[in-house]
Amino acid sequence: MLAFLLLVTVTLASAHESGEHFEGEKVFRVKVEDKNHVNLLQELASTNQIDFWKPDSATQITPHSTVDFHVKAEDILTVEDFLEQNELQYEVLIGNLRSALEAQFDSGARATGHSYEKYNNWETIEAWTKQVASENPNLISRSTIGTTFEGRNIYLLKVGKAGSNKPAIFIDCGFHAREWISPAFCQWFVKEAVRTYGSESQMTQLLNTFDFYVVPVLNIDGYVYTWTTNRMWRKTRSVRSGSTCVGTDPNRNFNAGWCSIGASRSPCADTYCGPAAESEKETKALADFIRKNLSSIKAYLTIHSYSQMLLYPYSYAYKLPANNAELNTLAKATVNELASLYGTKYTYGPGASTIYPAAGGSDDWAYDQGIKYSFTFELRDTGRYGFALPESQIRATCEETLRAVKYVASYVLEHLY
Ligand SMILES: [Zn+2]
Repeated sequence: MLAFLLLVTVTLASAHESGEHFEGEKVFRVKVEDKNHVNLLQELASTNQIDFWKPDSATQITPHSTVDFHVKAEDILTVEDFLEQNELQYEVLIGNLRSALEAQFDSGARATGHSYEKYNNWETIEAWTKQVASENPNLISRSTIGTTFEGRNIYLLKVGKAGSNKPAIFIDCGFHAREWISPAFCQWFVKEAVRTYGSESQMTQLLNTFDFYVVPVLNIDGYVYTWTTNRMWRKTRSVRSGSTCVGTDPNRNFNAGWCSIGASRSPCADTYCGPAAESEKETKALADFIRKNLSSIKAYLTIHSYSQMLLYPYSYAYKLPANNAELNTLAKATVNELASLYGTKYTYGPGASTIYPAAGGSDDWAYDQGIKYSFTFELRDTGRYGFALPESQIRATCEETLRAVKYVASYVLEHLY
């Protein structure tokens, strides 16, 4: 009996890991032309289990846009009927999400252990933070800025040549659990920093001048959950009395127009803003660290996916930041630099008008703390794979993003304040 139970457990675990969970599920892209289309999609979302990929929720749908969403197998016929009956133009981006998720693991990198060209699970990333710090004591030190709801350590790697009173650049990855390319970039950044320090002039100058504070994964509980249970999880994993729904959207949980627009008060929603700003241990830890080091932090970069965009404040309102003209020029030059490597095209601009209004984001909050250079990167792709971006694209995605990050950092170096 015990052997049988073990067998069942092992079978279930591997079924999850292989993504069997998503058999026959689809990702649709619908063209939204006018307000009527917006209303139709919101109606559809209210009666079916729809997992929004872009934008993040039904309330953020706007005319003259496209909407990507994932539909459970049992709802597909209803959804397809609805789209056709209402003459909404659509395409199927992913015909079988299970196959797309299996196809992510196409890197050919070795099956076990850490690899920069693989998606690594948390256990592997955690061990890597320890190892990379111990192997490069002259450039990296590891600290813990707090713990997650489930008690995991939130690590921060300080990357730079030792010196006193250095200015700093803060980079975080892994806010949203399912955006796996994001933690992959933070690991890549650290690798390239230590690999090219002393041989490549730009990186050498950056590390001599700045400390880079790198948080490889902020929402670790969510990230773990995407590996063990639900690959499409987005939020934290906090539970609280009064609701059976789990988690808060960490990028709606900052004290920047908190929960005023583009966020939900419903604990079950994927864009739940939480019961209060900084209610999540993860966002509180990040905000506390930045507040404590505010005099040195000159730029804040937060890495998300997908849609190939470089966004700057504001997202919580349509107002523009004081240095809008400068940020716009810098963003334009940065996306050109990014595209120079593989031709990957990014759009850019203030969050609210470029993507959609969303309050409580970390970039707006950091900017309002006085960090003049605050950007959100939305990495590859534009929806062909979405959150199921294959491992074979990690190298190119990280290389082009690294170029962009170095460009921003060098600009900040020339414009220290
Ligand atoms: Zn995100």
